[in-house]
Amino acid sequence: MMTKVLVAGLALVLAAAQAVGKSQQTDYQAVVDAAYAQFKDVDEGANADYIPILATVPSDMFGVVIVTRQGEVFSAGEMDYEFSIQSVSKPFTASLVMAQQGPAAVRTKIGVEPTGLPFNSKMALELYSARSVNPLVNAGAIAAVSLVEADSEANRWEQIHGNLSAYAGRELSVLEEVYTSEYEESWSNRAIANLLYNYGRLYSDPEETLRVYTRQCSTGINTLDLGMMGATLANQGVNPVTGKRVLDAAHVPELLAIMATAGFYDESGEWMYSAGLPAKTGVGGGIVAVVPGRFAIATFSPPLNEAGNSIRGMRAIRHIAGELGVGLYGANPSE
Ligand code: GLN
Repeated sequence: MMTKVLVAGLALVLAAAQAVGKSQQTDYQAVVDAAYAQFKDVDEGANADYIPILATVPSDMFGVVIVTRQGEVFSAGEMDYEFSIQSVSKPFTASLVMAQQGPAAVRTKIGVEPTGLPFNSKMALELYSARSVNPLVNAGAIAAVSLVEADSEANRWEQIHGNLSAYAGRELSVLEEVYTSEYEESWSNRAIANLLYNYGRLYSDPEETLRVYTRQCSTGINTLDLGMMGATLANQGVNPVTGKRVLDAAHVPELLAIMATAGFYDESGEWMYSAGLPAKTGVGGGIVAVVPGRFAIATFSPPLNEAGNSIRGMRAIRHIAGELGVGLYGANPSE
């Protein structure tokens, strides 16, 4: 009799636990579906075209995903198409520099202040004594590539590629057409690399660094990869699926702080004001936001606003963060 009661009690507890798990799952999926449905027909902005091939990516593609620190996936829309990671790669290479040399190297050799200026600003280099200013604008990201400890160009790339792949949990490839298209038009980034070198704030050969940086930006990822990369940060530096540690848990807060203050360039204040989450955007149309210790929200949609940030992606992430009440400073409203 006693055993029967115990078994029945246990069954009840299990059912309740399952129901909680399920209702949480249902919530995440429902919120992702709702954000997808609400913003998929938004018809504002335009693909980046200063990298000519990006203008040819179909503008209507849209993907939204939540990946939790346990590796659960809740997705809607485009999950397979491989787009170029572009500037979303920047925090991950800053992470590699932190892993190799500690966070102090990022602070002293690159900088951690937001510029309040566009991602490709040359003026920021003249205005700020740090020159590179922070690792999420082009200047600081190019400096980060130059800081990776490597004995050759091939080895520099191998490490950056290995690190991005470890974050995603699978071997990523370079979209060679994007690389060629971007490198052939890299006059602005070449100017930045040379200016940094001139000021002693680039730590390897400028043209070599530029090639590796451009290769990094041309790495192909899909929306799900981006969610996994963010979930690795949400999971304190361990990829939730492979179990591989990519960054020491002690350094994750520093990385997220830079994403919070500079992830959207001259729109970073507006982003924190409205979404309240550390995040990073790229001109390929990707955005990843991190809810520390819990999950990542990633989106892909090519049309950008003036600051170079994906319009549907920003709106979807803001909406999800609002609905789930996960803004770092309290629950922001969903729109
Ligand atoms: N590779 C791009 C560039 O250097 C990245 C810019 C971005 O995504 N904002 O211009």
